[in-house]
Amino acid sequence: MKDYKTLNELQEDLRVGNLTCVQLVQQYLDRINLNSHLNAFVEVYSEESLLRALEIDRKIKEGTAGKLAGLIVGLKDVLAYQGHGLQAGSQILASYISPYSATAVQRLLDADVIVIGRQNCDEFAMGSSNENSSFGPVLNAADNLRVPGGSSGGSAVAVQAGLCHASIGSDTGGSVRQPAAFCGVVGVKPSYGRVSRWGLIAYASSFDCIGPITKSVEDAALILEVMAGKDDYDSTVSTKEVPSYSRNLEFTGKARIGYIRETVENDAIAPEIKARTLAILDQLRAEGHEVSPVEMPLLNSLLPTYYILTTAEASSNLSRFDGVRYGHRTSVSGDLETLYKKSRTEGFGEEVRRRILLGTFVLSANYYDAYYTKAQRVRRLVREETQRFFEQFDFLISPVTPTSAFPIGEKVEDPIQMYLADIFTVHANVVGNPAMSVPNGVDESGLPIGIQIMAPFYGEESMFSFAKYLTGLTPEPNL
Ligand code: GLN
Repeated sequence: MKDYKTLNELQEDLRVGNLTCVQLVQQYLDRINLNSHLNAFVEVYSEESLLRALEIDRKIKEGTAGKLAGLIVGLKDVLAYQGHGLQAGSQILASYISPYSATAVQRLLDADVIVIGRQNCDEFAMGSSNENSSFGPVLNAADNLRVPGGSSGGSAVAVQAGLCHASIGSDTGGSVRQPAAFCGVVGVKPSYGRVSRWGLIAYASSFDCIGPITKSVEDAALILEVMAGKDDYDSTVSTKEVPSYSRNLEFTGKARIGYIRETVENDAIAPEIKARTLAILDQLRAEGHEVSPVEMPLLNSLLPTYYILTTAEASSNLSRFDGVRYGHRTSVSGDLETLYKKSRTEGFGEEVRRRILLGTFVLSANYYDAYYTKAQRVRRLVREETQRFFEQFDFLISPVTPTSAFPIGEKVEDPIQMYLADIFTVHANVVGNPAMSVPNGVDESGLPIGIQIMAPFYGEESMFSFAKYLTGLTPEPNL
C-alpha cells in the first residue's frame, strides 16, 4: 500500500483513477487487522466504511465529491458520531450510543470523509500514556513496550502505523500534541474557541479543544479549516472568520522567535531532546531569524494551576454520569444514594475517581479560595504574561515533552510523574493560544521527538506556515 503523506497526493490518484476509496478503505481495514495488538481502535466500522467508500467513489466520478473526499479518519472515543458507540474509554458509558454527531464530525462528514472507527484513549481524556483506558493500553508502534502518550494515544498510533490517514483527537492539556510527539506525527491544538465543542465529551470545558493528528502540516491545516468556525450549539466558539489555512503555507520573511530558557536548558529534560531543540534554535538563528531566550517566572505554577482547574471542572462535568441517565448502572439494590455511589464507583476507573475527588475538594466551601480562586488568578497572570510575550515575538518554541515515549507501566503508580509529561503542553491550554507539535527526528533508541510551536491567539494561519517551514529544518525522516 502506498503511503500518502498528504491528502492532496491521494486525491490526485483518486482523480486519475489509480485508486478507489473502496480499495483504500480495504487496505486500511487489512492493516488495522494486522496491527490489532497495538489496540489503537476500540471499534472498527468495516462494512459501513466500505459502503460509504462506494458512495464517495461515485461522487468522485460524478465530480460532486467534497473537499475531503478520500480522507479516511479515526475518531477519538470522546467525539459523538450519530448512531455509533461513544464511551470516553470508560465502563460508565458501556453500550452508550450517541444520538447525534459532534459539529466537528458533522463538518468532516459533510466534506465527504470516511470514518473508519473509534479510537482508544485514556478514560475521559485524563492521562498522558493511554494506560487509563478501560479498553487496555495502546502500544507505541515504534516500540511496543512503550506508551504512545495520551490521552489521544490510539489516535496518534493509528496515524503512526498507517491504520488511517488522519485522526481527530482532543487536547485539554496536551492530549493531541504529546502523543503526536511520542509517535512522530503532527498534532494541533487550535485556539480555544476555534472549533465547536458541541459533541465532545467534556473533561474541562474552559480548556478542551478538538484537533487533528496527521502525517503532514498540510493535512492538519486542511482538516482544521473544515472543522473550525462558528456554531450555534457552542456559545464559546468564535464567530471570527476562518482563513483558508491550507491555501498558502509558504513562510516568508523573518520571524521573532522566543523560547523560555527553563524549557530548553533544564537538566530534567532528556539530553537528546535538549540537543535537538537547541539545534533547531541555532538553525533558525543561522537562517536570519531573531531567536531570544526569555524568562517566564510563572512556569512552575502552570502544572498546579492546570490540575486544580481541570479537576474542578471535571468534577462538575462528570456529575452527569450517575447511573441513571447514561451507561452503566449497578446491579446492587438500595436507595438512590447507593445507586449513585455504586454505579460511579464501578463505572469510573481509578484516575477518574482521583480527579473527581480532587476537583470536589478544591471546590469545597472551606478550600475554594485557597485553591480554585487562587488558580484562577494565576491563570489570569499567565495569560497576561503570555500576551506580553506575543507582543514581542511571533512564536514560542519549546520541546513538546521532557522525555521521549516511556515504558508501559513506568509511571502508573506515580501520578505526579505522569502529570510532568505535560509540563510543556499545558501552557497553551491554560492561556488558550494555539500550539502544535511537529516531528523533530528520533533519539538514539529510535523513539520520535517533537518540537512545539505556540502562536498568538487565532494565529493558526502563520503557525501552520511556520510549522511547514520548520519541517524543512528538522532531521530526516522529515515531512
Ligand atoms: N495528560 C493531561 C491530563 O491528564 C492532558 C489530558 C488532555 O489533554 N486531555 O489532564
